[in-house]
This record gives sequence, structure tokens and C-alpha cells, in this order.
Amino acid sequence: MDCIFCKIIAGDIPSAKVYEDDTMYAFRDINPEAPCHVLVIPKKHIASMDEINAENSGIVAKIYEKIPEIARLGGAENGYRVIANCGPDAGQTVFHLHFHILGGKTLPVHLCNE
Ligand code: AMP
Ligand code: ZN
Repeated sequence: MDCIFCKIIAGDIPSAKVYEDDTMYAFRDINPEAPCHVLVIPKKHIASMDEINAENSGIVAKIYEKIPEIARLGGAENGYRVIANCGPDAGQTVFHLHFHILGGKTLPVHLCNE
């Protein structure tokens, strides 16, 4: 499958690993918008939030259980923000479900730029 995040999981594209287990892989965003900018992805290919269902939602639950630890490992020691972009209006560019963890500085209070 032609998915860059599947290739990162397979080790075919290099990445800066922050955390890994059987379910998920976490690595630093190549274009960081904060001192801590980590992406957490399921090892199973799920295209977006729109593809979450009763069969695979346990994966998302496991990711959320781990996010506090991954945020700490990524350098967010004073709070963090979790973002999942879904579809064109949200500007999703990679169609493998991913959760951005942003922190390491005081983030802007607004949730979008307008
Ligand atoms: P989104 O716009 O929510 O789909 O986010 C995709 C994110 O993936 C962007 O923040 C990119 O900087 C990031 N990204 C794309 N390619 C890579 C890569 N090879 N390694 C790390 N992060 C990447
Ligand atoms: Zn994928």
C-alpha cells in the first residue's frame, strides 16, 4: 500500500521514534509546530477518524491510554494538546489515522486560525 506512515512503521522511511508497542508507533513530526510535536499512529492502517468503528475503536482507546506517557517522553512536561485532522476542511494530508501531540511551550488559546 502506498502509505507513508505504513512505510514508517515498516522501517522503510526513517523516523525519530518516541514510543512503540504492538498496537502503536509514535514519532516526531518532520515539520514541528512546537518543541514537542509527536505523531501517534496505529500499526493497523486506518485511513482517518471517519474509519473508526466498533471493530477497531479498541486501538484508539489504547492510543489514548498511552498518550500521557508519550507526551512526557516527547518533552511536554507542562500540558499538551491532542489534534486529529479528518478530511479536506481540517487539512488532513496523510490518510493514515494520526494524533498530533503538541506541547513544550504555551500554545495559542484558539482552536483554529480564524
Ligand atoms: P495532517 O495534516 O494532520 O494530515 O498531518 C500530517 C503530518 O505528518 C504533518 O504535520 C507532517 O509534517 C507530518 N509528516 C509528513 N511526513 C512525515 C514524515 N516522513 N515524518 C514525520 N512526519 C511527517
Ligand atoms: Zn498506512
